[in-house]
Amino acid sequence: MKSHAKAVVIGGGVVGCSVLYHLAKAGWTDIMLIERSELTSGSSWHAAGGFHTLNGDPNVAKLQAYTVQLYREIEELSGQSCSLHLTGGVMMADTPERMDFLRLAHAKGRYLGMDTELITPSEAKAMFPLMDETNFVGAMWDPVEGHLDPSGTTHAYAKAARKLGAEIVLRNRVVELTQEVDGTWNVVTEQGTVKAEHVVNCGGLWAREIGRMVGVELPLLAMEHMYLLTEPMPEVEEFNKSTGREMIGVMDFKGEIYTRQERNGILLGTYEKACKPWSPVNTPWDFGHELLQPDIDRIAPSLEIGFKHFPGIEKAGIKQIINGPFTFALDGNPLVGPVQGLTNFWCACAVMAGFSQGGGVGLALSNWMVHGDPSFDVWGMDVARFGEWATLRYTNAKVRENYSRRFSIRFPNEELPAARPAQTTPLYDTMLANNAVMGDSWGLETPLWFAPKGTEPKDIVSFHRSNDFGPIGEEVRATREKVGVTEIANFAKYEVSGPGSEDFLNRLMTNRMPKTSRIVLTPMLNDFGRLIGDFTIAKAGEERFMIWSSSAAQKYHMRWFEKHLPKDGPGASQVRIHRFDQTLVGLSIAGPKSRDLLQKLVDADISTKAFRFMDFREMAVGGAPCMVNRITYTGDLGYEIWMAPAYQRLVYKAIKDAGEEFGLVDFGMRALLSMRLEKNFPTWFRELRPIYGPFEGAMDRFVKLEKNDFIGRDAAAREQAEGPKLRRVSFIVDAADADVMGDEPIWAKVGGKDYGTVEKPHGYGAPRFDADGKEVRGSRAAEGASAVRGIVDGDWRVVGWVTSGGYAHYIQKSMAQGYVPAALAADESAGLFEIEILGSRRPARINVEPPFDPSGEKMRA
Ligand SMILES: Cc1cc2nc3c(=O)[nH]c(=O)nc-3n(C[C@H](O)[C@H](O)[C@H](O)COP(=O)(O)OP(=O)(O)OC[C@H]3O[C@@H](n4cnc5c(N)ncnc54)[C@H](O)[C@@H]3O)c2cc1C
Repeated sequence: MKSHAKAVVIGGGVVGCSVLYHLAKAGWTDIMLIERSELTSGSSWHAAGGFHTLNGDPNVAKLQAYTVQLYREIEELSGQSCSLHLTGGVMMADTPERMDFLRLAHAKGRYLGMDTELITPSEAKAMFPLMDETNFVGAMWDPVEGHLDPSGTTHAYAKAARKLGAEIVLRNRVVELTQEVDGTWNVVTEQGTVKAEHVVNCGGLWAREIGRMVGVELPLLAMEHMYLLTEPMPEVEEFNKSTGREMIGVMDFKGEIYTRQERNGILLGTYEKACKPWSPVNTPWDFGHELLQPDIDRIAPSLEIGFKHFPGIEKAGIKQIINGPFTFALDGNPLVGPVQGLTNFWCACAVMAGFSQGGGVGLALSNWMVHGDPSFDVWGMDVARFGEWATLRYTNAKVRENYSRRFSIRFPNEELPAARPAQTTPLYDTMLANNAVMGDSWGLETPLWFAPKGTEPKDIVSFHRSNDFGPIGEEVRATREKVGVTEIANFAKYEVSGPGSEDFLNRLMTNRMPKTSRIVLTPMLNDFGRLIGDFTIAKAGEERFMIWSSSAAQKYHMRWFEKHLPKDGPGASQVRIHRFDQTLVGLSIAGPKSRDLLQKLVDADISTKAFRFMDFREMAVGGAPCMVNRITYTGDLGYEIWMAPAYQRLVYKAIKDAGEEFGLVDFGMRALLSMRLEKNFPTWFRELRPIYGPFEGAMDRFVKLEKNDFIGRDAAAREQAEGPKLRRVSFIVDAADADVMGDEPIWAKVGGKDYGTVEKPHGYGAPRFDADGKEVRGSRAAEGASAVRGIVDGDWRVVGWVTSGGYAHYIQKSMAQGYVPAALAADESAGLFEIEILGSRRPARINVEPPFDPSGEKMRA
């Protein structure tokens, strides 16, 4: 074993081997993988080996599609077969709601280049005759699904990596990790110590233990998972013989079941409701190639439904039940990337679908390590997306909830209950008493809307407008016409101070830093000129800046700030960054009467001239020391008031008492988001993400290319010079009873013109067969069938996608924001666009100027 390596990958499961392969492919060959036993000694060996491309997060779906396409490449390079069976598969809907869910997934697939298709239950049965199709109302076909040999695939990655120069050391456990002052890692193993620049945690079932070696508690948990294998079935053999093909994969949401052909029998697995964590606190080091005791009682309810839906399987004898553990993060997506607070310590763990995701994870991580950026939008699997609140027990509750809901619909207005309340502000009980419906905002309870007195404060979950529609409308109208108050504790808040603070921020941000007591809005870019942040910055003192941003990005941003702190030379130690988290909370008042209200609570003069739009001031509000920003995300006259938690109740009560004469109402996060829509304001993580440049994101006025050099400036200058390819726009949509949720395709009537921004189908699909067993090739539209799929339909073409939207209650219109080719972004003509909502294409029209207060005179008043 060598004693030095550029990078050491810990763990030889499918993920570690994929990371090793991708690092080697990217040109890092001085790398090694250290495995405590043999390759595949964690969950990889007993996986069912299924793969598919669908994922709730379109960006993760894209990386899954990449994974599937990669298998041929590693087979060729390694000479090792993955035993790939690209059968295609269907997802079966048993209710209209589930069908809506499939319509949404199908629509999303259009611009992801996925070749899915909505089909009838009979068509599904033709490809999987063991089902009773009368249990279902419809299905979605995905040609890029199948199964493979987990062990062969892991070895194919490993052999391919070796061929490119990587080293693999087996039967050697990593027992300790320490770091030198210069950042070098000492990877202490049973066979000696390796000095490495980078360490990657691919420990799978033991990823928590490896995290603990460096003082990090990773939010993941292993769950027991069972699948059964039947004896050979004559029906399967007969189908294979008569059709010359294999049966497809089937996902049955109602039964929480996935099933497919395995040899000449059937494999059937469940994500049962009564799920069970495995080794919730510590993973034993002596676990490896053994299986867990099957527990048929636990999966009996799923099997009962499964046998009803697939009567053909019930008759078969069960040959074996496999029960094995594998790991999940809170939301079921992987934990990938550099860990905040550490240098060159990387994670690729909690990969629950290693054979769908392993390739994409390896590619993104290797890009990140070698080139400093994952090159994809990997927020959905970034290890920084969870905060300190994701403790061991919190994780346990959330992972169990996620596992048991794996096949459940998550409605757009659905808040999940496990592990709540976790964090609360001092106003929590008051908000409950006010009949607030609370939501989870990065672990913090936050009022979403206020149910009318005497009604139960509860969302009726739906893809359509629901019971919050009326009350939110009232909150919006009262705020716009009089004044409203809302909690804004769920923002990120930082203080950057010290003699080097202004230079530091100027280097990171695209906008000029404000003068003392003033505020600016500013994006932040990565080296490639892509948007990685959107901040409100106030200069609170000569060497002190207050910063606000998106709550969920706190670790993501801290990681970036820390990476760019001046490390040595004259600037070192001259910048301090403090993240407040919930030690600073806030309230916002907005609406035309907000100044009159605030004036009653402060002794300072806050008249228009004395306290201008975008001013910052420290002042006592209702007797409590506060910081006040004269801005509001509602786009109205308004103020954000920040205070220590100990004062929040005092300030709230003062606002409520003083507000009575002005008709003050409480409003929640949903009303706030509705109001920002009619101002065309973007949100971080929806409109603004690392896949867009600042000019694409329509952030032009906050980018000052002529100021000092800042990170991403050259790339941004190029984007401006060449002109952005895409542009963020706002639409008014002629919706029916449902508004956009995000990720819907945007169609435009552009004739044959191709704007080249929409991904083409990757064409790596299996053939599909209709109810008569006839092969269906290409699009059904092309064959004259009524269903329309793909990205072209006559003169119409999918040209972009929705990022977010909803109902704009004050203007009483449905609105959407999204990205379209820049050449179309200023075209406000009617009849040009349609947005697909729940399978129905609705007319939409670009609105360049915000429909509410386009000149901004109200907020500047
Ligand atoms: C019953 C079952 C069915 C499944 N079905 C599917 C499926 O159909 N499709 C799918 O995509 N996924 C499936 N999975 C999940 C899949 O198995 C995992 O996603 C995948 O195996 C995760 O791979 P990994 O490399 O992250 O972890 P692991 O496979 O757990 O590998 C981690 C490796 O790290 C090594 N290691 C740990 N600590 C150390 C140390 N300190 N020093 C050295 N080495 C160390 C371990 O020995 C191990 O080999 C299934 C899992 C189970 C249990």
